[in-house]
Amino acid sequence: MSAGASFLAQVEQSFDRAAALTRHHPTLLGQIRQCNTVVQFSFPLRRDDGTLDTIHAWRAEHSQHKLPTKGGIRYDVNVDAEETMALAALMTYKCAVVDVPFGGAKGGIRISRHKYSEGELERITRRYTFELVRKNYIGPGIDVPAPDFGTGPREMAWIADTYAQIRSDDINALGCVTGKPVALGGIRGRAEATGRGLFYGVREACGITEDMKALGLTTGLAGKRFVVQGLGNVGFNAARFLVEGGAILVGISEREGGIHNPKGLDLDKVVAFRKENNTIIGFPGSTALPTSADALELDCDILVPAALERQILAENAPRIKAKIIAEGANGPTSPDADTILQKKNVLVLPDLYLNAGGVTVSYFEWLKNLSHVRFGRMEKRFDEGFARRLLSGMEKLSERQLDPSEAEAITHGADEIDLVNSGLEETMIGAYHGVRETRKGLGANVDLRTAAMVTAIDKVAVIYREMGIFP
Ligand code: NAD
Repeated sequence: MSAGASFLAQVEQSFDRAAALTRHHPTLLGQIRQCNTVVQFSFPLRRDDGTLDTIHAWRAEHSQHKLPTKGGIRYDVNVDAEETMALAALMTYKCAVVDVPFGGAKGGIRISRHKYSEGELERITRRYTFELVRKNYIGPGIDVPAPDFGTGPREMAWIADTYAQIRSDDINALGCVTGKPVALGGIRGRAEATGRGLFYGVREACGITEDMKALGLTTGLAGKRFVVQGLGNVGFNAARFLVEGGAILVGISEREGGIHNPKGLDLDKVVAFRKENNTIIGFPGSTALPTSADALELDCDILVPAALERQILAENAPRIKAKIIAEGANGPTSPDADTILQKKNVLVLPDLYLNAGGVTVSYFEWLKNLSHVRFGRMEKRFDEGFARRLLSGMEKLSERQLDPSEAEAITHGADEIDLVNSGLEETMIGAYHGVRETRKGLGANVDLRTAAMVTAIDKVAVIYREMGIFP
């Protein structure tokens, strides 16, 4: 079985586990579980040296119960149809958990990004976009890609530009993709949204005394030791916000291996060291671990897998020492490992909830693109004026004046970034309590992943039932 097929089986197993706890008709559950469409295509690439390569690519739309569908584009050597379908399914459930009104989709190109020049990557990305346009698999009301493993704002800019060139009559063209640079219709806060969302989720979970007591941990994030796997977009930003929140980074794993320092690692210094030396191994004051997988088994309170799927399996799960697993990556834990971790009383904060910050802020970016106005532009000055008048009235009544910095903090009107972070925080906190309540209703032996999946299935099932069948 290919890695992609095992991953798809893993997602379907999680679905089945949850579906068995719902009362929906089996046919309806079967409809929800199925990936609606998947397209595979190949196209030629002229390399810089004049030779030709054949590029293999996919796009899967798991469910169109809400449109557009939404999901990242991955550049990786392991991309295949099954992996793309598994990730598309996760997107459907994720969007439902955090009430983002999209169906799930995912795309991928089977390449090792590092083997191609920037010019070659641009040609691959633009041709991929062209193929999506031709097949009606992209558009602000159809299917809206975003960054994922191996892609970022640069690729999203190429996609937006290619789409806009072809569909020059589409006034909403910039809404065809999210995760764009701000200058090209992107939104402030998108780049770090998944990591920030993860932080909000972990902070919320650690703030519930009853749940922390059950794990033998104190309440709150401060002082909790964590390990992160992957220093990419999700892993780096998650680590940054967790450190800012008072947690201590004691271990890091990257492609080349892992490093450990029980007293704490300086994240920025590790990143700078890696940039200079092309490796984290040898970072001053740290102990090197032979393989990246070893870092998963380090002594810590919170483990943040934020690289790839299927990292915590039945084989290594018994050796995991963390009390909380905060899934930044999609599908890092297999169902068998889930069972083992639950027996070990480990709290798994599941991907379909915890890494939904990216798609949440992508939703905000899409709304911004459709409304053609930056968030905060209309009300910021008005709100500031109102707050100033209110404050000045209170100062008159109390015959006391605040110093200018205090007054500024109170009267500051919200900028785009303030609104984005506030919307993200509200989403992550609200969704956590929704999933936790569902879990309570299902009984003590149900894990959070199953509870999140039940939450998602219930929301999608209502829509499927109410929209009926066409024709
Ligand atoms: P990225 O390409 O920015 O970073 C991935 C990092 O993992 C890289 O630094 C890479 O070197 C490292 N890595 C690769 N193999 C590794 C290994 N065996 N051990 C340790 N590190 C390894 O990708 P990303 O966007 O951060 O995505 C990471 C995961 O998060 C993926 O599963 C992705 O699907 C998921 N995700 C991403 C987003 C997003 O907004 N980018 C949103 C939701 C979920």
